[in-house]
Amino acid sequence: MENKVRVLKFGGTSVGAPDRMRQVARLILADQAPKIVVLSALSGTTNSLVSIGESWKVMKLSEVEQQIETLYDHYLNFINELLSQQRQAGKEVVDSHFDQIRKLTAVSYNRSSNRELLAQGELMSTRLFVLYLKEISQEAILIPALEVVSTDENGEPDISLISERLGDILQANSDHGLFVTQGYICRNHVGEIDNLKRGGSDYTASLLGAATNASAIEIWTDIDGMHNNDPRIVPDTYPLHTLSFDEAAELAYFGAKILHPNTIWPAQKYNIPVKLLNTMAPQAKGTIISSAKTPGSIKAIAAKDGITAIKIKSSRMLLAYGFMRKVFEIFEHFKVPIDMITTSEVAVSLTIDDDENLKALVAALEQYGEVAVDPDMTIVCIVGDLISEEIGLVKKVLRSIGDQPVRMISFGGSRNNISILIPTRSKKEVLLSLNQGLFLPREQPVDKSQ
Ligand code: ADP
Ligand code: ASP
Ligand code: MG
Repeated sequence: MENKVRVLKFGGTSVGAPDRMRQVARLILADQAPKIVVLSALSGTTNSLVSIGESWKVMKLSEVEQQIETLYDHYLNFINELLSQQRQAGKEVVDSHFDQIRKLTAVSYNRSSNRELLAQGELMSTRLFVLYLKEISQEAILIPALEVVSTDENGEPDISLISERLGDILQANSDHGLFVTQGYICRNHVGEIDNLKRGGSDYTASLLGAATNASAIEIWTDIDGMHNNDPRIVPDTYPLHTLSFDEAAELAYFGAKILHPNTIWPAQKYNIPVKLLNTMAPQAKGTIISSAKTPGSIKAIAAKDGITAIKIKSSRMLLAYGFMRKVFEIFEHFKVPIDMITTSEVAVSLTIDDDENLKALVAALEQYGEVAVDPDMTIVCIVGDLISEEIGLVKKVLRSIGDQPVRMISFGGSRNNISILIPTRSKKEVLLSLNQGLFLPREQPVDKSQ
């Protein structure tokens, strides 16, 4: 392959109905340039598999059976509508995966088998898509993601390893230009089937883009790019045509569902532009994320739920040097990342989004002072090119929040983010009032690159 490859990822809604899948085929066949197409499972499938796994775990076996049969019927209808000459082959694909699902859930639950259960969605969508391409006389090579994407003992993927494996496959098929693979799924350090966490297909696309030094990573979804606020909560949001890697990384990490939180770093590391595009409106501009500086100060707001705030209060020790190190070592020991941090004379407050080991973590922290825990919090993140010298910036944000309760504020850690911790119950009001104060009347940044 002489030209640089493009990586195109299509999410669940983009492949969730036979017509949508046909549209994906039209989009990728519009030109002959080399492509790696990353697919998610059909929309709703991973949710159903998660729910089957939950029923399986608590031995509600009739629920397991019922849910499997409902999903199976959905797939039978799907292939009946999508395929004609390849229908029988499609039925065999679906049957083989559902046999595997039934076999897995017929014995007692374990986490490793559950992860294999979760992988069936992407395994099916990619095989069905390749069959559809065959039906329209288009050849594509199916790359098994389970042979390419793997993670180490910390759950981190290794791009150079991915690059080596993928390079071999691309080279062995150098007379082909169209490759299809599964998003989301991978193998872990002990060789078991695993995944890159919910929404992980975006991350797969970015890893593969970085591993192949792609010309672009395109994330095709059901909306015309990154909006300035969460469109599920706030009316009249609008797409941002350009974002810097740093801005997009903050938005993805702090809850903008359109991107998996880890999507940006591989692209940024290898300086590969990420485009967010709409499968249903391919002519829409979408968002380009790159290293280019983008115009505008405050650009967007995102919100991340499921946050727990932890306060450690110790009048004697806080300002003693070494205290912070001891506190951080405890978080490191439990492998719990910290999102926000604020300090005062006598206390330090931190937030985490992983409360799996909360009890043990709190017990360990208690040796250094009084510990208070506030669950059910949300981080609201205001993102842009926020130069601290800009007069009135913080005032504008605080004034926009108005009377809403605020538990923590963090600014100055980077020039791209002001984070505010609020109780989740007031999230909607906070997003609406910030929207009102920061973006209305609508003042879209002037994008001189257009
Ligand atoms: P896919 O299945 O294609 O991966 P997702 O549902 O994961 O799609 O992501 C797209 C959705 O993200 C949109 O439909 C939208 O509701 C939601 N979303 C949340 N915040 C934003 C935002 N700031 N900009 C655009 N979409 C957002
Ligand atoms: N199918 C997976 C999920 O629903 C991965 C993805 O869609 O990105 O989480
Ligand atoms: Mg997604």
